[in-house]
Amino acid sequence: MVCRFCERESVEYWFGNWCQSCRKLKNLGNVYGFERILEILQRCCIRNPEQIKNKIDLVKEINEVYEPLEKLKKDTEQIHKIRPITRQRAERERREQK
Ligand SMILES: [Zn+2]
Repeated sequence: MVCRFCERESVEYWFGNWCQSCRKLKNLGNVYGFERILEILQRCCIRNPEQIKNKIDLVKEINEVYEPLEKLKKDTEQIHKIRPITRQRAERERREQK
């Protein structure tokens, strides 16, 4: 039988009406109050168009800073990969010269 709340998951017990996740949500509602749970969900999960735009702009700004940093990190790693080989080669060449 399918959960009566989410209408997607199977019920937790054959005699129950709720899946495991929805049972937990119901328990939270019983403890903290359904009004409070709804208020938290609306405040944290539901965003108006202006909030969505702000979030998109923020992600763009972060990427503008982050992408050059990632490139710098990759370049630095590349330099560190090359360096030991160069050092080893230099030591070998020094030994060969002796
Ligand atoms: Zn459910």
